[in-house]
Parts: sequence; C-alpha cells; structure tokens
Amino acid sequence: MDTLIIGGGISGLTVAHKLRRLCPKHQFCLLEKSNRAGGAIWSHAENGYLSENGPHGFLDNCEESSLLLEETGLDKECLKASLSKFVRFVCIGGTLRCIPQSPPKIIMAPLISPLAKLRVAGEFFKKPLLGEPTVAQWVEHRFGSALLPFVDAVFTGTYAGDLNRLVIDGVMPGIRHMELAHGSVIRGLLAKIKEGQRNRKKTGQAKKGLPAMTNFPDGMKRLPEKLAASLQQGLEIQLGCGVTTIRKITNGWEVESDTGHYQAANLVLALSINTSLALLQNISQTMPQTSIPEAKIVTIALGFGPGSSLPPGFGYLAPEQEGRFCLGALFSSNMFPARAPQGHILLETLVGGRRHPERLDLDDATLIRLALDDLRPLLPLHGEPTYARVLRASSGIPQLEAGYPALLNWRDQMMRENPGLFIHGFGWEGIGLNDMIKSATRVATSICNNANSNREQAAVKGIYF
Ligand SMILES: Cc1cc2nc3c(=O)[nH]c(=O)nc-3n(C[C@H](O)[C@H](O)[C@H](O)COP(=O)(O)OP(=O)(O)OC[C@H]3O[C@@H](n4cnc5c(N)ncnc54)[C@H](O)[C@@H]3O)c2cc1C
Repeated sequence: MDTLIIGGGISGLTVAHKLRRLCPKHQFCLLEKSNRAGGAIWSHAENGYLSENGPHGFLDNCEESSLLLEETGLDKECLKASLSKFVRFVCIGGTLRCIPQSPPKIIMAPLISPLAKLRVAGEFFKKPLLGEPTVAQWVEHRFGSALLPFVDAVFTGTYAGDLNRLVIDGVMPGIRHMELAHGSVIRGLLAKIKEGQRNRKKTGQAKKGLPAMTNFPDGMKRLPEKLAASLQQGLEIQLGCGVTTIRKITNGWEVESDTGHYQAANLVLALSINTSLALLQNISQTMPQTSIPEAKIVTIALGFGPGSSLPPGFGYLAPEQEGRFCLGALFSSNMFPARAPQGHILLETLVGGRRHPERLDLDDATLIRLALDDLRPLLPLHGEPTYARVLRASSGIPQLEAGYPALLNWRDQMMRENPGLFIHGFGWEGIGLNDMIKSATRVATSICNNANSNREQAAVKGIYF
C-alpha cells in the first residue's frame, strides 16, 4: 500500500475520497473497526420519525465541505435550513429568549443591561489575558460577566462542555490569535470587517449572508454511506478491522489488526484524540498526556400529534445557571421536511454533557419522564408523546481543556519528526464536521504532494447558537 487510513468516520472517508480524486494511481486501504462506516454520524428512522444519533447537520460556509458535496453529487440531494430564516432561543430565567444570530445584534438586543453593554464595549481597552485561560475567565476578563450565560449556551450547544474547563486557545484559536495580534477582539473584528469591504469592492463580490444548516432526506448517515459506497469493499475499505498496534519500520509503517498485518509508506490516523493517543503510545516517549476528557450525551427524540407546536426556530439551549435537566432541544421538524409523520412534530432534546455524566446512567423511561417534565413549562406540548426514543451516542465529544494546546503542539512535532505519519480526526483542530473535512482534505493533498501536513493558522469562525 502507499497509504493506510485508520478510521472510517467522516475524516478517514474524506481522505480516501480525496486520494482517489487527486492521485488515482495511489494505492490505499481504509481500516475500520466497526461493521459500518460513519463513526459518530448515525441517523435513526422509526415510525415515520427521523432523528440523529450524532451530528444534526453542518453549516454550508466551508469551501472544502461544499466541494465534497459537489464531487459526490450530494449537493443535489442535500436539504438546507438557513440561519436567517430560523431563529434560535436561549433559556434565560425559565423562558425562551430569541437570540439574534450575529454578535453585534446580540449586543444591541435587550438581553443585557445598558451598564453591561458599556462593559462589553470596554473590551477595547482590556489587555490580553496571558497563559491558558478557561473560556469563562477569558470572557469575564474581556467582556464582563453578563455575557457568560450566552457563551455558556454556545459551548453547551457545540461541545456539551463546561466553559469553566474548556480553554479559549483550544476552542477559539482564531479569536484568541486576533486578540493577541490586535490587542482587542473588537479592534480585530473591525479590521476584519474593513478588509472584507475592501476585498468586496475590489472583486465586486456580494456580501455573504448567514449560512444554512445542511442535512439529507435520509438523515446525516447519507454522507458517510455515499462516501463508503464508492470504495471497493475488501480492497480500498476493510470493515470489522480494528487496529491494535502501529509500528514504525524502514520506509514506512506497519499496522497490526484483528484481521492481519498491513504495511504502507504513509499512515493516516483518522481517529478521535483518545483513540489516536492509545495507538501512538508505543511510538512516542514524549506524549504530554495519554487521554483527554470526553463529554457524552443522549438524544431523546419526542414526537407529538396535532395540538402541540414548536416555536418557529431551530431550537433552544439552556445555560447551566438555569438548573434544567435538558441541555437544550432541536426543533427538528421545523428545520427539515419529513422528520415526522404528517401533522406531527419532532423535537430532539439533549441530556448529559461534561457537567452531568451521571444522567447518562438513567434508564430510558426515567430519561423520557424527566425530559418531558423539563420541556413542558417551556414549550406548548399537549398530551403524551406519540413517539419517544432514547438514542445513546457511542462517541464522546473531545473536551479541549487544560493542556490541549501543548497536546496539539506535540502532535505537530510527531508529524514533523515522522514523515508519512498524519494524525487528524475528531478533536484535533476542532470538533465539527467542517473542521474534519477541511483537515482531511489537507492531509490527502499533502500525501499526494509528498509533503508534511502542517497546521494552518486558525481562522476566525462565526458564532452561531
Ligand atoms: C453526539 C454528537 C453530536 C454531534 N453534533 C454535531 C453537529 O451537529 N454538527 C457537527 O458539525 N458536528 C457534530 N458532531 C461532531 C462530528 O460528529 C465529528 O466531528 C465527526 O463525526 C468526527 O469524525 P471522525 O471521522 O474524525 O471521527 P469518528 O466519527 O469518531 O470516526 C472514527 C472511526 O474510527 C473507528 N475506529 C476507532 N478505533 C479504531 C481502530 N483501533 N481501528 C480501526 N478503526 C477504529 C471508529 O469505529 C470510527 O468509525 C457531533 C458529535 C457527537 C458525538
């Protein structure tokens, strides 16, 4: 083999797809432990309801993801729900408050007091907080404590995480870089807006609107299924093939698996951080930590018949200070068609996360009962649900907490010192599908160019609830 790819989630499948397109003669094989491809992505269809066991979609603002959809023909099938059309809510003081989708509009909205708004503007004069601050420490220092519940909602919605533990350099490296480069985030954003205006004037391009959430009529599982279907089973992809050991050999890498030995010039680990670290232990003496925390969640899919309704939006998030049982809920039947039978609604509520792992031990009936008790005061849900299903995600979401920046630097060094070794996947350089597709594209391009896959400078990403 020229290249062995370990892991058949979106990261590994994208590397395989890109290798095929970029260098057709390249011989590769993807080894996947499970009997299906897709990893964290899985959709669940039952009784006319369609819910998601993992990701509920991805934003259409990533070039590499758009290209992947085009190359696979999935751009013709995908469904889009625009952020400009569907609002989001945050639960504050026991009621759902509608949140505008851009930071300036959030600041202008009557969500915080005028004094707190002045404090936000004071960010302009705040010196960068050095070291490795948590998200909460950093937000409080720069913008004041009034924004904490809203930032909590953002990191509950993305990481199911705890803003008192996640570190700003891990979860928002682009914003952190902007703060350090300009001395203030607001100053950096203003410079970025001006640069955008200048570029648009030069190129004549129109200003981009808000992005849209992307999914498929059969659910998110369509994406890995389509990618896996184009690979030759047994030759380009081996399912049910768990890798147990990796070893460096002259001119490449050797891999031991449940089903046999493989050798290749390049080795791609397309795995979540903890799975990669477990395999890398026998080739590194300098690993700064052997694992990182993960947050697991359960999705409780609830269907209701006529008489119940959902507010016109994507869903809501509840900051920890609200003391609620559910982290939030997605109003799934609002977002995409055919998620529920005619005349019915589907919402998917999320429970657990970094701060409440004990809730994952509850049995299904208790989870459904406690979720309904939590939801009824917030939403007009009448009668008993016509459908209730607890979906327990097998993957945890990597938590980028204290020590993560050092771990990422160590990974970069491992790749520099071991040409032919590529380490990426869930948690390395982000946790979203777009992050995975972007870094997988870079890995495949580097392999084809016989180059190392150097980390790009982190971009400033939009914050969407
Ligand atoms: C509950 C949940 C909700 C999410 N929601 C969203 C969302 O709404 N939007 C979004 O953009 N992202 C979301 N994400 C993140 C998104 O799912 C991940 O970014 C993405 O799926 C990670 O893909 P991956 O291929 O890097 O890793 P994985 O999906 O973890 O794939 C790794 C693969 O490697 C295999 N493997 C493991 N060990 C071995 C071994 N030893 N040998 C061979 N194979 C092995 C596994 O079986 C798995 O198939 C969510 C994640 C979770 C868990």
